[in-house]
Amino acid sequence: MSGQEGIPIPLVSEAQDVQYNPLANQFYPTSIEELEEDNTILRKLLWINHGCDRSALYGDDGEMQCNKCMIDFKRMSAKEIQTIWRSRWHKYVKEHPEEVKKILDKYGITSDDSEQ
Ligand SMILES: [Zn+2]
Repeated sequence: MSGQEGIPIPLVSEAQDVQYNPLANQFYPTSIEELEEDNTILRKLLWINHGCDRSALYGDDGEMQCNKCMIDFKRMSAKEIQTIWRSRWHKYVKEHPEEVKKILDKYGITSDDSEQ
């Protein structure tokens, strides 16, 4: 998206504590509190929509856990969640090569690309 003609994207050094979000056409975020609020909202959206059945989700008292994935969306870092999902994808690739080939073919990705 960066460098699209007609959309000014300021350098971080110019933005200082406020960053211009060209897609929303506004200055954002304006504070750590807004970033934290965003983080919580995005984690909640991820927790609810990550693909597991809602019966596996535990959300009492602000918790965001999945009993199927065993992922704690409230406490685990984004990198930890990504690592867990990637390791499961690699396991799935090994166990279901034909299914993976169908998925890759659907998106026009050659099998060699998937291992890089
Ligand atoms: Zn899950």
